[in-house]
Amino acid sequence: MDRDEPLLIEMSKPGLAPVRVPEPDVPFRGASAWIPERLLRRTPPALPEVAEIDLARHYTRLSQKNFSVDTHFYPLGSCTMKYNPKLNEDFIRAPMIRRVHPYQDEASIQPLLRMLIETQEMLSALTGFPGISLQPAAGAHGELTCLMVFRAWHRAHGEEERTEILIPDSAHGTNPASVVTCGFRPVELRSNEHGLVDAAALREAVGPRTAGMMVTNPNTLGLFEREIVEIARILHDAGALLFMDGANFNAILGRARPHDFGVDAMHMNLHKTFAVPHGGGGPGAGPVGVSAELEPYLPVPVLVRDGDRVRLDHDRPLSIGRVRGFLGSTGAVLRSYCYLRMLGEEGVRRIADMAVLNANYLRATLGEILRVPHDGPCMHEFVATLEGLGNLPDRPALHAAKRLIDLGFHPPTTYFPLIVRECWMVEPTETESKETLDAFCEAVRRIAREAEENPERLTSAPTTTPVGRLDEVRACREPRLTWFDA
Ligand SMILES: *Cc1c(COP(=O)(O)O)cnc(C)c1O
Repeated sequence: MDRDEPLLIEMSKPGLAPVRVPEPDVPFRGASAWIPERLLRRTPPALPEVAEIDLARHYTRLSQKNFSVDTHFYPLGSCTMKYNPKLNEDFIRAPMIRRVHPYQDEASIQPLLRMLIETQEMLSALTGFPGISLQPAAGAHGELTCLMVFRAWHRAHGEEERTEILIPDSAHGTNPASVVTCGFRPVELRSNEHGLVDAAALREAVGPRTAGMMVTNPNTLGLFEREIVEIARILHDAGALLFMDGANFNAILGRARPHDFGVDAMHMNLHKTFAVPHGGGGPGAGPVGVSAELEPYLPVPVLVRDGDRVRLDHDRPLSIGRVRGFLGSTGAVLRSYCYLRMLGEEGVRRIADMAVLNANYLRATLGEILRVPHDGPCMHEFVATLEGLGNLPDRPALHAAKRLIDLGFHPPTTYFPLIVRECWMVEPTETESKETLDAFCEAVRRIAREAEENPERLTSAPTTTPVGRLDEVRACREPRLTWFDA
């Protein structure tokens, strides 16, 4: 691959280092006093020496080579790339947050603990679950945590033989991965012709080995599982539990509470729904909510109110134990705290309304250009197929997505969910204007025309980016992450 951007080490000139480390003003015997002689370096490390202005330009140029939600429309279905208010960033950089040390005792971090427990209480109000844990570090980790809680619950009830977890075929790949990681066995459930879980098929599939089911609602086609109450009843009657993948909670935020429609446990991705930067900007957080019955199994420590203080409760004999160090991804949680406090109850409801309105506007407009197999009102996202688009030789969803990049848009999620061929999964989020959505539709219209008249345009895209099509397999298998002096 050609590089037009030199590495810092290649720009380096001796003597240009912008930082001079001052001599220590306390007695210092040097590292050699503690480190064995044979481990000491003979020559100084080859650190790049670059003037400050060149350093600033280097990193600024690098940052401009990529797409970001602050520069481009980013309709990445399921990943929820919404705008992250800058207020959140200012907030978590406040000295009272930034300077807290992980080993400080409870008494000295009461304001921090109070913000964390208030976040729990807000998440509890939005989901309906009395028990919340902020510990899990990401969505998949939240899934695993809930499954561990399920397993502990079944064991406590003498039901060790329950080892199977049902998963619809439209599920996110992390669902079966979490099931296997937890030591359960995933059992796939086929969606019906409407793209939904079929209650009759579910009734057939549950049995004495069923530990539970993972359902995504709205599902990855952007459809609300209309039979969710019946689905929960079938599982409960069979002695199994219902988990909801709530990574993308946008569509029903403040409008429906998963515990009310029969869910026993769910996870939320703060880095999707609750405005925490992700996709390289992490870390995120995947808090979980559980019913009163499952609460004793939550990870320790549990934050509890104790008069007007907040305490870390470690005394939970049934707990599955810790799943994360210290208090979890505090920086992510506090961004969401700031976001929720800023919006208030009314603002949170508006998120759901606008996310659904924007998705339906795009679905209706793009539906004139592409086919939407499961048509009809959607929630926060929808899935279109590009099968048979224009005169492309193969993989139309891929080529059209690459061409979108040339036209200034981040592509939607492609080839997911697996049950729709040549698909795009489009999620505009609530923060986009009608003008942006219209411009996106115009770009897709142009691509559809080019696919007919000039398919080369698509198969050779992108041409406006620093790099074109990457060999993703090779990048995975043979990553070159270390610089060697040639
Ligand atoms: C993103 C996502 C996940 C996984 O979340 P991570 O934080 O990436 O682990 C799980 N399920 C769905 C539906 C998602 O969109």
